[in-house]
Amino acid sequence: MPSNQASNAPLALIIDDDEMVRMLVRQTLEIAGIVVADAPDGEEGLTQFERLSPDIVLLDVLMPGMNGFEVCARIRAMPSGQRTPVLMMTGLDDSDSVNSAYEAGATDFVTKPITWPTLAHRVRYMLRASQALENLARSEARLADAQRMARLGHWDWDLQTDAFYRSPELLRILGAASGNLPPGYASFVALVHPSERGELERALSKALETGESYRMECRIACPDGADRIVHEQAVVARDETGAAVRIHGTTQDITERKSAEQRIQRLVLYDTLTDLPNRQYFKEQLEHTLVQAAKLQEKVAVLVLDLDRFKRVNDTLGHNVGDQLLVAVGERLTKSLRAVDHVARGDEGGVTGTLARLGGDEFTIRVANLPEAADAAKLARRLLTGLSQPFVLSGQEIVITASAGIAVYPLDGQDVDTLLQHADSAMYHAKQQGKDNYQFFSPSMNASSLQKLTMENQLRKAIERGELMLHYQPKVESCSRRIAGVEALIRWRHPDLGMISPAEFIPLAEETGLIVPIGDWVLEQACRQAAAWRAAGLKPGSIAVNMASPNFAQKDFVPKVAATLARERLDPGSIEIELTESILMQDAQAARVTLEALKSHGLQLSIDDFGTGYSSLAYLKRFPIDTLKIDRAFVRDVIQNPEDASITSAIIALGGSLGLSVVAEGVETEAQAEFLQKRGCDFMQGYLFSRPVIADDITAMLVSGPLPLDGARSRRGASAS
Ligand code: C2E
Ligand code: MG
Ligand code: MG
Repeated sequence: MPSNQASNAPLALIIDDDEMVRMLVRQTLEIAGIVVADAPDGEEGLTQFERLSPDIVLLDVLMPGMNGFEVCARIRAMPSGQRTPVLMMTGLDDSDSVNSAYEAGATDFVTKPITWPTLAHRVRYMLRASQALENLARSEARLADAQRMARLGHWDWDLQTDAFYRSPELLRILGAASGNLPPGYASFVALVHPSERGELERALSKALETGESYRMECRIACPDGADRIVHEQAVVARDETGAAVRIHGTTQDITERKSAEQRIQRLVLYDTLTDLPNRQYFKEQLEHTLVQAAKLQEKVAVLVLDLDRFKRVNDTLGHNVGDQLLVAVGERLTKSLRAVDHVARGDEGGVTGTLARLGGDEFTIRVANLPEAADAAKLARRLLTGLSQPFVLSGQEIVITASAGIAVYPLDGQDVDTLLQHADSAMYHAKQQGKDNYQFFSPSMNASSLQKLTMENQLRKAIERGELMLHYQPKVESCSRRIAGVEALIRWRHPDLGMISPAEFIPLAEETGLIVPIGDWVLEQACRQAAAWRAAGLKPGSIAVNMASPNFAQKDFVPKVAATLARERLDPGSIEIELTESILMQDAQAARVTLEALKSHGLQLSIDDFGTGYSSLAYLKRFPIDTLKIDRAFVRDVIQNPEDASITSAIIALGGSLGLSVVAEGVETEAQAEFLQKRGCDFMQGYLFSRPVIADDITAMLVSGPLPLDGARSRRGASAS
């Protein structure tokens, strides 16, 4: 049995009941190099067709049993028979038969008697045509496959007829059944994201006008609800006059590629452990910020923050916990940066920044549009304070601190690398300074603010390093000029800067909250000194201690004072608390409760710098006060300035009428002393009698009795007053 599989020769199947015809056809075709199979009737013909898949069928019309039309129709119904050329051989030369043949799916027909010499040509021609069709169908299928794989659709717009074609793949990409997307390019343009639509419209009209092709990426919102990103590309065909006649193009769905790109981007720009921007991304962002800042003449801060002793965590608790800690630190820092909205603007600073992880245990923060260099310091402080709360990881409590370095654009550097490098060296400086602090890259600050910022860090350490000390200034009784009490005044003996006056660091301590431990220390120190004098059998009177608002506002202020007194077994009357008017005025109700509690413990209470605030008489009456201290500002000019003289006289009179004792501060001359004494001022304090001096000098004064009128100037330790 011949087979077209055995050779490359085409295979023809002849179905005819006439044996003679079959033989002649066979001879003719075989000479032409065609392999031939035959069948005597329709049934047999269909069986052979199924088995052999011939390249062409020659089919007789009139046969006993199944006729040729029916056989042809049955062949066409088979999957393998849809495109096989079928040549009908008919003896009937009438148009009805011809029609029936075509209706049954015949490709062509010849009439009997057959002209043998041309049959072979005819068959060959049909085979070639069929092969061409077959090839075309195959390449269309391949193209469609390729387009489907590439998610590439195409469209064609005939500008003359306005006919618009969309490939099936394009419809799939647009998520549109052909019904729900109106024809025409406009319906595609309408899917494009509004922010990109204008650009596409401009490209299109330019293409129509000039013939210029275009390509662009657009985001589209598809009718099926999906958002996709496509690459749109179009070319224009023009006629000989140059007018655009047709525009056609491709639409490729690049959504997946884009999201892969984004994933890669994320891997490249973000730290996988903490999910924070990495060093590279930080540098890119900073680069942008600097360009902006240069235009707007703004300051930018770069903070580098490094965990202290992180290696120890890794070594003792393992890398896993170390990693967890880094993640937690990243989160905590992010939270501190966000907390800016909730933080009171003034003191804590309203600046925030963007966090990144530089690698290891090193983080960095970029602060754009920095108002003042000092605001970066406030931010650093906030971040360090935030970190100082313990972390709980895998059931363990971990306490960690960090050191930070700050560099400020444009002072400390003009470019990303210099700024990072300088922030880094400032950070190392902070490490050297004992860790858990921040440092500016030094040339960044003008002398005074640098001093202030360094001072803050140093003040933190001043207590433990024993750099704070108390001086005491006697308060004398006006008539006898005997010491009736002393006021404790704090001093900071700075290792490099020498003695620093409280006027310089108390405001800073208040601002930073350091005043709380400092106040505790002062009270403790004063109580100890009182105990020491009592033990020596000396009677200095009460020791006045200045308290700032944050001290006084502490919930446990009264019990703390009581406990300190009890520890030294002191009579509460031996300590006097000095408060300014403003402290009392801030929250008069709360102040009164605290004052009453202090009073009930037996402490003396006085209002310092009186006359400068706004206390009304009514307020004074409500507070359980013992003493008014007239501010030095009135005393200073009391002789020359009649107004000051009358205010001073009024305060003295007021004190007398309320049963309060009155102390004049800052008495420097005998004339002032005489004036005050005459007006009935009970006590005086000032350089006329003594500057604030060390405790030993007070001891000496207490031992040697009343001070001489010209004032006993201390020769020791009074330099800073
Ligand atoms: P203050 O409580 O009114 O203390 C009086 C200030 O006047 C002291 O300055 C004292 O040295 C100075 N002074 C005394 N007599 C004279 C004088 O005759 N002439 C002049 N020109 N000055 C005189 P100092 O010690 O510098 O303290 C300044 C302020 O710092 C204090 O004012 C007080 O408000 C605050 N301060 C001092 N020690 C402490 C403290 O331990 N805690 C708190 N919270 N504040 C303190
Ligand atoms: Mg005072
Ligand atoms: Mg005062």
